[in-house]
Amino acid sequence: MNNQQFQTPIEYLKGVGLARAEVLKKELGIYHFEDLLKHFPYKHIDRTRFYKIRDIEPDMPYVQVLVRLMSKELIGEKHTRRLVAQAKDDTGFIELVWFQGIKFVEKILVPGKVYVIFGKPGFFNNKVQMAHPEMDAYLPNAIKQNGNLSLQPAYSSTKKLEQFTLDSKGISKLISGLLKQHARDIHENLPAYILNRFKLAPRAESYRNIHFPNDANQLKEAQYRLKFEELFFLQLKLLKSKQNRNHKFKGNIFNLVGHYFNEFYAHKLPFELTDAQKRVLKEIRLDTQRGVQMNRLLQGDVGSGKTVVALMSMLIAIDNGFQTCIMAPTEILANQHYQTIKGLVGDSFIEVALLTGSVPNKARKVIHEKLEDGSLNILIGTHALIEDKVQYKNLGLVVIDEQHRFGVEQRAKLWRKNVVPPHILVMTATPIPRTLAMTLYGDLDVSVIDQLPAGRKPIETLHYYEAHRLRMFGFMKQEIAKGRQVYVVYPLIKESEKLDLKNLEDGTEIMSREFPLPNYRISIVHGKLKAAEKDFEMQRFIKGETQIMVATTVIEVGVNVPNASVMIIENAERFGLSQLHQLRGRVGRGAEQSFCILMSSEKLSQDGRTRLKTMVKTNNGFEIAEIDMQLRGPGNIEGTQQSGVLDLKVADLTTDQEILQQARNLVIEIFEKDPQLALPEHQILHLAFQTKNAGLSWDKIS
Ligand code: ADP
Ligand code: MG
Repeated sequence: MNNQQFQTPIEYLKGVGLARAEVLKKELGIYHFEDLLKHFPYKHIDRTRFYKIRDIEPDMPYVQVLVRLMSKELIGEKHTRRLVAQAKDDTGFIELVWFQGIKFVEKILVPGKVYVIFGKPGFFNNKVQMAHPEMDAYLPNAIKQNGNLSLQPAYSSTKKLEQFTLDSKGISKLISGLLKQHARDIHENLPAYILNRFKLAPRAESYRNIHFPNDANQLKEAQYRLKFEELFFLQLKLLKSKQNRNHKFKGNIFNLVGHYFNEFYAHKLPFELTDAQKRVLKEIRLDTQRGVQMNRLLQGDVGSGKTVVALMSMLIAIDNGFQTCIMAPTEILANQHYQTIKGLVGDSFIEVALLTGSVPNKARKVIHEKLEDGSLNILIGTHALIEDKVQYKNLGLVVIDEQHRFGVEQRAKLWRKNVVPPHILVMTATPIPRTLAMTLYGDLDVSVIDQLPAGRKPIETLHYYEAHRLRMFGFMKQEIAKGRQVYVVYPLIKESEKLDLKNLEDGTEIMSREFPLPNYRISIVHGKLKAAEKDFEMQRFIKGETQIMVATTVIEVGVNVPNASVMIIENAERFGLSQLHQLRGRVGRGAEQSFCILMSSEKLSQDGRTRLKTMVKTNNGFEIAEIDMQLRGPGNIEGTQQSGVLDLKVADLTTDQEILQQARNLVIEIFEKDPQLALPEHQILHLAFQTKNAGLSWDKIS
């Protein structure tokens, strides 16, 4: 909606007024005409068909039936007082019941008359029943005029709104009024050639039909048009911002592959790179030679070898005289990267330092100095790396290893770290669904490592119920006897830390009884331990002094013990899918066959069952990410909550993948042909950049 009219405050709409405006704002965030128009129905109720009583089944949603009223009767006393009416059609009988508004209903119901009744059916004593049905006298000609023979919108409302007669029906009336008065002000915002090519319905018509369609087809067309529009403009903005950035910022040019890279490749790299790793390295090479700042997302499953790719990219930067850094979301993970990279490059090859909150001041000062004089090549740490007081001599490449925690704004902060902003490589710890990547990271280029290193045996995943605990213990013993190590993980959920700690303590006790000294040794790690204690326990496990690591999810990130080949997850039904996948990724790092055992109670929710089944069925993180999003919705995937990018009103990233892809491809095509949107047919698109409310807070991104 690009015009003034739709920014009119809601109190000016006929039938609203100050009091109702207040609740609309408070309860639904409806401030302007436009917000109301975009308060889309969450479903439509089918009033196009009449059901026969005989065909009504339990669990049916709202149904419409044509009946003749036979009798009515007030029964019960005080609290149980109710109005019961009997009705029938040519296939059976139905009982209608009212507990409220009895007097009024009693007065208007006339036995012998024919009514259109509408409501949710139920069964009581084997009889079909309907409580508080909507009743309309049957007037064959009037039905059409009232719009009864159509799909009726259902709107979300609240108790508070209902007090102001703004239940679903009340809201429907307001929207209907708004459309009647202002439909003409809804202007088209897509060029005609796009409408034609994608067979999109006109905009004003779509707004009408998404609320009040005449039939299912109209509704579908309206939804398609508005989803397309929403995703199109989102992509237009994201890709415009990418274009602006490329325009505004030059990029460091890494045109040299020199001593560091070659030396590492020839003498230090302990394995052959996978084809996927090579391909991604090539993509990064191309990006960093163009003179444009790289902004690339590197996706790859757990264990696909993202770290080596990042390291080799950094070596190229170093070969070209630049410094680099890796930013991790937690200290544990930063520490892990530090160890990994030190392990890969060895001593006295390049200067690598770790900077976290726990680095003492003195050491910190040394790091700062070395950063400023350029002698430090790789700095690894947490957010601390981008604090203003950390100054680099010549920062050329930043690797962000994130769990969806670094938003667009934080990335933007990095761009200011050098005269020419550093190249940026974002690595995701868990794969995210394609649609999310295209929106959340829509301004980035994407590389995917879709292949695991050769010779890796897929982890075998089993689901055991509590009843099979002894079998699970037996399995643990068998693997430990072979020299393997085992993780046992308990859930940790913030709201009930006490309970979880209790779980962990009980679990530890059971484990200690089942696996007693001196044959068995157990490490215990949880969030309540001091850092030094935690580290001590972890080290014992890493060195192989203990065979079992009992832990809460703190081990999710940051532990790499190739000899650990069994992952037991207790109360697995309480974990989210991506978390389960992350945990499982802790094993399968060595040459041995690894196992993951999901322990659960017999009582499982539908979702819980789906999660465990999915884990047993597949090791593919991308597949798991898709299912995770289907179960929880895109807004509940970690890190997406604060993202304004996902503030979608009508499109749904779970189901509208195809439309999103179409819209994105179209935008790419448009920018290729007409980067400035200067062609006459694209004038119309400029308007989108001038309004603040196209579903995205634009200033944050540009
Ligand atoms: P990710 O960060 O993608 O989860 P890592 O980079 O930590 O994966 O790699 C997982 C393990 O696989 C590491 O021990 C790493 O050294 C090893 N690795 C990486 N690439 C290869 C490869 N091409 N062949 C064999 N092992 C590899
Ligand atoms: Mg890693």
